[in-house]
Amino acid sequence: MPKAEYRLILKHADEPGYTVDIDCYLRHGGYQVLKKALAMAPDQIIQEVKISGLRGRGGAGFPTGVKWGFINHEKNTKPVYLLCNADESEPGTFKDRQIIYKDPHQLIEGMVISAYANRAHLAYIYIRGEFAKGAEILEKALAEARERNFLGKNILGSGYDLEIYVFRGAGAYICGEETGLIESLEGKRAYPRIKPPYFPAVLGLYMCPTIVNNVETLCHVKHIVEMGGAEYARIGTPNNTGTRIWCVSGDVNKPGYYEYPCGAITFGELLYEVCGGIRNGNKLKAVIPGGSSAKVLRADKKYKIPRKKEDGSTEMIEMGLEDIPLDFDTVAATGSMSGSGGIIVMDHTRDMVECLRNIAEFYAHESCGQCTPCREGSLWMKKMLDRICSGGGRPEDSKLLLEVANHIAGRTICAFGEACAWPVQSFVEMFGEEFEAKQRRESSLEILEPVTTRT
Ligand code: NAD
Ligand code: SF4
Repeated sequence: MPKAEYRLILKHADEPGYTVDIDCYLRHGGYQVLKKALAMAPDQIIQEVKISGLRGRGGAGFPTGVKWGFINHEKNTKPVYLLCNADESEPGTFKDRQIIYKDPHQLIEGMVISAYANRAHLAYIYIRGEFAKGAEILEKALAEARERNFLGKNILGSGYDLEIYVFRGAGAYICGEETGLIESLEGKRAYPRIKPPYFPAVLGLYMCPTIVNNVETLCHVKHIVEMGGAEYARIGTPNNTGTRIWCVSGDVNKPGYYEYPCGAITFGELLYEVCGGIRNGNKLKAVIPGGSSAKVLRADKKYKIPRKKEDGSTEMIEMGLEDIPLDFDTVAATGSMSGSGGIIVMDHTRDMVECLRNIAEFYAHESCGQCTPCREGSLWMKKMLDRICSGGGRPEDSKLLLEVANHIAGRTICAFGEACAWPVQSFVEMFGEEFEAKQRRESSLEILEPVTTRT
């Protein structure tokens, strides 16, 4: 029997008869936590979120309470904004969409509580353009919440006012980068800003303090206020608290989204027991643990993982991929990251050069073009991989691919630079023999496609 899920955020998501209507939400105890929150002081809520240890579920895993603490409310004279990042575009990630499509009021309740804690009176849900139905669901849910005074002026007689608007993106991956999202919301091209100084908590929307949180993160806030930060922190492991939704795609029998406490399940348990094993009885070859931006992990490799001993000291132990528990820190110890929770599975039939070419094509298409290393480098890598895959590989290509990737990571305005470089670095490093074999093949191309600048 696979380990039973612990559904906190997805509790009602697939429950028969559960609908997106507010009446259904209210019948299941909806907006009761908002009443509790409005009776608390905003700083008390921030404190509970700090105690809970909640880390951002968008990908970076940054502590939410710390982010909220960056705004100095005593000195701040500007309006504060709350932005919900619902631009879920990371390949392999499909959890926020489930929340929006199946339980939109949970998100709205989490947002009203979070906005209240951060003294925001205006909030936006920036939703990915492709989620047209999701935007419609949210508009309807917001109208229902407004009608019942969970939104708008003097919410539930508390004296607190808040309005939430839905803003639809137009299908660009970079709009999910928080400062690109802010630029887009301001009506401009989504060019990410340089951080620092433009950390949104300090200089965000209209140069005002702005909290940007992911959909799942904001939902967790509701549960933290409901159960108290300390109680919430008991779920998961220290520094990796609460539950996480893992989105599994690729070569497994039962792809899907599964919610477990952080650290409660290993890669092996998730893939073989929960997801029904590798398709067609094939062998597991590799896993990308946190959306396509994360480094690929080889299934037959041993990883050095820190483990706490009884006396409090830490020892390093060797672990096979399948034994590694899924939480932020342990996955990070492999050299990769759990990122947005999108686990992409590849079996032994996969051509890793082709897989990388597919990823590289995505990044070359999505680079916003603002920084030269990313704009040019992402396209060069894609073109080199196209050439290798069409039989025009050269022995020196792996080295060249790494050289280009190494000149992107750490040299760009936003994390997209790392996101496009890390897959290349890790695929070439982990599966060097496959690249070499492909590069040794006789060239079928007479003339190599020239590398040209994006126009
Ligand atoms: P980041 O580590 O730069 O920042 C994390 C958060 O902490 C941000 O909100 C940032 O403003 C804040 N922060 C960090 N240091 C701060 C400071 N000193 N002062 C104030 N605020 C500070 O990461 P990021 O660029 O927000 O996210 C990158 C991650 O996003 C990637 O790892 C990737 O996994 C993920 N991602 C997810 C999706 C998706 O669809 N969910 C899409 C693309 C990328
Ligand atoms: Fe744009 Fe890439 Fe630079 Fe990010 S790293 S700002 S996506 S060009």
